[in-house]
Amino acid sequence: MKEFDFLIIGQGIAGTVMAYRLMKAGKSVLILDEAEPYQSSSVAAGMYNAISGKRMTLSWKWEETFLEAKALYSEIGELLGKNYLFEKETFQSFGNIKEQNDFSLKAEDELFQKHIRPTEQKFPAIRNEFGSFIINSTGWLQTHEFLKDFKEYAIQQEQLKTEQIDWSSFQHSEEGIKLNGYFAKQVISCEGWKLTQNPLFNFVPLIPTKGDVFLLKCDELPDTFIWKKGVYLVPLGNGIFKAGSTYRWNVEELGPDKDGYEELYSKVEAQLQVPFEVLEHLSGFRPASKNRYPIIGAHPIFKNLFAFNGLGTRGIMLAPYVSKQLVYHILVGTEIEPAIQINRYYPKSSQ
Ligand SMILES: Cc1cc2nc3c(=O)[nH]c(=O)nc-3n(C[C@H](O)[C@H](O)[C@H](O)COP(=O)(O)OP(=O)(O)OC[C@H]3O[C@@H](n4cnc5c(N)ncnc54)[C@H](O)[C@@H]3O)c2cc1C
Repeated sequence: MKEFDFLIIGQGIAGTVMAYRLMKAGKSVLILDEAEPYQSSSVAAGMYNAISGKRMTLSWKWEETFLEAKALYSEIGELLGKNYLFEKETFQSFGNIKEQNDFSLKAEDELFQKHIRPTEQKFPAIRNEFGSFIINSTGWLQTHEFLKDFKEYAIQQEQLKTEQIDWSSFQHSEEGIKLNGYFAKQVISCEGWKLTQNPLFNFVPLIPTKGDVFLLKCDELPDTFIWKKGVYLVPLGNGIFKAGSTYRWNVEELGPDKDGYEELYSKVEAQLQVPFEVLEHLSGFRPASKNRYPIIGAHPIFKNLFAFNGLGTRGIMLAPYVSKQLVYHILVGTEIEPAIQINRYYPKSSQ
């Protein structure tokens, strides 16, 4: 039986950045991914934004997470010979008077001011009854291509196999873990929403949140900005945009469904006053945590089994920052910051 330092289960954004950091540290790594067709990381528009959420607040640890993301995605881009991270300002239009008023109050805050500027600009394609502003600290990672190219690279290096892990094969000892016929000193679960099906981590209260995106064509919309009014429209070139997204709880159906299509379509219609054509409808499940912070750290009993999860709505931006903490924790024993530690969910019986 071949032995590894690490088995990484899942090659979404969490598994990818974890694997890269461990490979860079000289560890032998095997990634096992079942290649789920609706993987959240590939579906995502990959947007990052200093101002996030309906309430337009400064994103959690914006400076640190952005710097870490920029550095790590550029570094992996160099390895793969391509740039995947694009910076572009967002032209955000208010949906109603309340949003406009809330914004005026926030705009007095110095921290907020750093990332925005007022604008009187109007664009014929965009419905703009209540005014707009520009956010300068935004952009996106080309997630689908990034993950696909990293997968090809890892397969070439014999560091990735397409395989579903059956957790009932889990056998633990002081020396390591046997799983699906492999042996590794340590195992890291990066399974996204499917952690809910992993019996070893059933104490983690993950809330899978379904989201939809469209690839759409709109020739009359310029690609000067990322456009946002309720939903975002990320310009991919040649009149193609990624539009999203919805937030739907308690939905079990995998893959795109009629409700998701209709909800997103009406949101795009509320933003665009020119014709558009939906080329493709995609959907996935975000692995959201109860308090919206990531969830990382060791299993309460099996100390060489780890989870990296809870990336929620901002996984693309958070994964580099969070993975750094987990790698340092595993390799040199540094503490993980309390807000994102898995031990906040440890069952009482294990404490
Ligand atoms: C519609 C939509 C839009 C989004 N837009 C954005 C955005 O613009 N910006 C942003 O930052 N975030 C966005 N997100 C959120 C982001 O996609 C997630 O936070 C992030 O991708 C989660 O990554 P992950 O690696 O934890 O999980 P996933 O991407 O779900 O990856 C988990 C992987 O593990 C594999 N796996 C699971 N169980 C097993 C097993 N037992 N054996 C083998 N393999 C297994 C799966 O096949 C999968 O490949 C969006 C999400 C959705 C759904």
